[in-house]
This record gives sequence, structure tokens and C-alpha cells, in this order.
Amino acid sequence: MPSRNILVINCGSSSIKFALIREGQKEFLLHGLAERLGSSASVLHWQQDGQKDSQTLSGGDHRAALTQLLPLVDKAAGGELHAIGHRVVHGGERFNHSCRIDAEVLQAIRDTSPLAPLHNPPNLLGIEAAMAIYPALPHIAVFDTAFHQSLPEYAYRYALPESLYREQHVRRYGFHGTSHRYVSHEAAGMTGLAVDDSNWLSAHLGNGSSTCAIVNGQSRDTSMGLTPLEGLVMGTRSGDVDPNLHSHLVRTLGWSLEKIDHMLNHESGLLGLSGLSNDMRTLEQAREQGHPGASLAIEVFCYRLAKSLAALGCALPRLDGVIFTGGIGENSPLVRNKTVAHLHLLNLALDSEANARCVRGVGGPIHAQGHPRVLVIPTNEELQIAIDTLAILH
Ligand code: ADP
Repeated sequence: MPSRNILVINCGSSSIKFALIREGQKEFLLHGLAERLGSSASVLHWQQDGQKDSQTLSGGDHRAALTQLLPLVDKAAGGELHAIGHRVVHGGERFNHSCRIDAEVLQAIRDTSPLAPLHNPPNLLGIEAAMAIYPALPHIAVFDTAFHQSLPEYAYRYALPESLYREQHVRRYGFHGTSHRYVSHEAAGMTGLAVDDSNWLSAHLGNGSSTCAIVNGQSRDTSMGLTPLEGLVMGTRSGDVDPNLHSHLVRTLGWSLEKIDHMLNHESGLLGLSGLSNDMRTLEQAREQGHPGASLAIEVFCYRLAKSLAALGCALPRLDGVIFTGGIGENSPLVRNKTVAHLHLLNLALDSEANARCVRGVGGPIHAQGHPRVLVIPTNEELQIAIDTLAILH
């Protein structure tokens, strides 16, 4: 059978990321981003054969952007597109696997929207637009939460009244599942271990960050919870705070729920701590120039990350390796070094040359000889979505 072409789509509220992937290839045939959708400044950027290009969009919505994308995809795919894989953030308890989208699946994604009000509605917009444009193609949903449906109940339940779980579905779900799954499979391949007989701690560190404990190919615990706010320090998200912070701010400052929500999601994390930026590159440069806020933000980020990895060690029967991935995990020897320095108890230590070498897409082992494995593995969520899509086509 000739290789098939899969289009992968990830829709946000005002953007669409896309990648065209040929079966069996890691390099994308075409990939890019439509951004500022719904505004007069909407624009489509793409990259093909190493060439970058862009085109203004006529102020359109998701459907208009996908329609304008169509000729590019058709050309790059040689007129042969076989399926579309859609990233969906929240699958609730209904989805523990990727699945083909039909009316019932669409309704289930819609029903899960209260759990992910910022993410599932734009994901749905993209799915509906793509289904209208490509009605004859199979459309596959790949959920960020699905990988974590294997958490044991003692890991996913909050210590809250049971009715909140039974009636309101308040529990820990976890996110970044596609990335944690992809890098743990890569780690097994890289080290010659079997996926179903290997144990990993993985740290996906991007604008959003999370850790995951993976046992024999299954997620057993993760740092994000009901929403992606729980857990690690992130670009603009606080991660864990005292749950009484809300009432403290209401009592002392009279803040509204909206204001607190905005502060925790958009003004906190690296940005809040540093008072400078949510971007790790900027903070590393500022730290070198002696900026105290940038230094503190990096210290807190790394300590909290180490603490989370150590805690997730509880979920593993043994440790086959720690994985760093995501923009920061793949590119920051400083963050990896500072994090591992807090993990002497796990006997972790890095080889500084190997650590320095693993940047800009170069992955590999970075641990010092005789110490437990630490790996840098570039993530590729689009590829994992394409792999899932192809598996469902079979
Ligand atoms: P997203 O979660 O939006 O997909 P990414 O995975 O691309 O984000 O990660 C973005 C983060 O990676 C930013 O904080 C950025 O500063 C950081 N990053 C990218 N390159 C480097 C680098 N060379 N050194 C340090 N941090 C980097």
C-alpha cells in the first residue's frame, strides 16, 4: 500500500496550527500556523521544503482559514489526503483512546466543554470546519487527557466531598498526554527497553508544563489536575498555590473571581515571579546580566520541578530514566542542570558536555556515567497524532 498523508490540526481560539505528515516520515511535508483569526490582521504562515512563506487571510474565521489552506495541503500531498487528526484538549472520563469522530463523539466533546471552556470550544470549531470542507475523509480525535485515564483512583481523586466527583466530575485529569506518551515511547526505543516493561518520569516544559510518571506504557500520575493550572510553575500560570489563596484575596483585597482567575493563569508563573517575562530564553539572558527577579523565577521553576519529579517517583516500581522535553526541556541546559542538582536523593547527576550538546532538536542521554538515565527527547505531538490517526485507519 502506498504511504498515506495525514493532516494534523490543532485549533485554538484565534489560531490553527497544522502539519501535513506522510506515513513513515518524521519530517513534515508542510506545516504552519494561521493566527489572529477573526481579526483584520489574520495571517497564514507555512513552511515547506525548508522555505517559509505567508499570506494574509481575509479577516476570516477558522473555516475561512482552512479553506485558504486547502490548495496548499492538496499541492503538498500530491492531491492525496487520507485523513485528518485533530488535537482535542479535554476528553473527560469518556475517552481513554483516540477515536474516529462521529455525531456521538462530537456531542461528547461538546459535553466536556465545561471542564475546558477555553480549549474544547475552539477545538470543536476546527473539527466542524474541517468536516464541512472534507466531508468524505475520516476525522480522528486525539485527546490530551486520554493517556492519563489509566491513573489509579487514589491518584486522580481530590480529597473533597464525593458528590463533587460523582455529580460535577471534579477530579484530576492531567494534560500533555500526547507528548508524555510520545517521548516515553521514544525513550524506550532509544534505550532498547520495551515500552511495556519500562518506567519513566517525564517533564514536558513549554509555556505550559507538566510531569508524568509512566509505568509500562501507562500514565500512573501527573502534575496537572482538573485544569492545566495545577502543578508546576509555568510561563504565566502559578501552578500549585494554597487553595485558601482565593478566599484570602477576596477577604483582604476584595478581588473578584475573574480577577483571581486571570492573575493565576495570565500574570503569575515565570512572568509574575520575574516581573519581566514568561519566556525562559529572556529570563536566562536577564539572569546573566544580574536581574534578581529572573534568577529567582528560574530557581523556583527548577526547585518546584524537582519536587514534582521526586513526588511522582512514588508511582514507579523502579526508575529507567528521567525525560526532558518541550521548548525549555529540549533547549535549556541551565534548567536541566539546576533541576537535577535538587535530585541527589535519586542519585541523579549530569554529564555537563552532553547536557550542553542537547539543544535545538538534538536529543540523547545527558547523565553522568554510573548514574540513572536522564534523556533529552524532542517531542512531536503532531507526529503522535498522525500515528494514532493511521492506527485507527487500519
Ligand atoms: P508551547 O507550550 O507553547 O508549545 P514551547 O514548547 O515551544 O511552548 O516552549 C516555549 C518555551 O521554551 C519558552 O519559555 C521559551 O523561552 C523556551 N525556550 C525555547 N528555546 C529556548 C532556549 N534556547 N533556551 C531556553 N529556553 C528556551
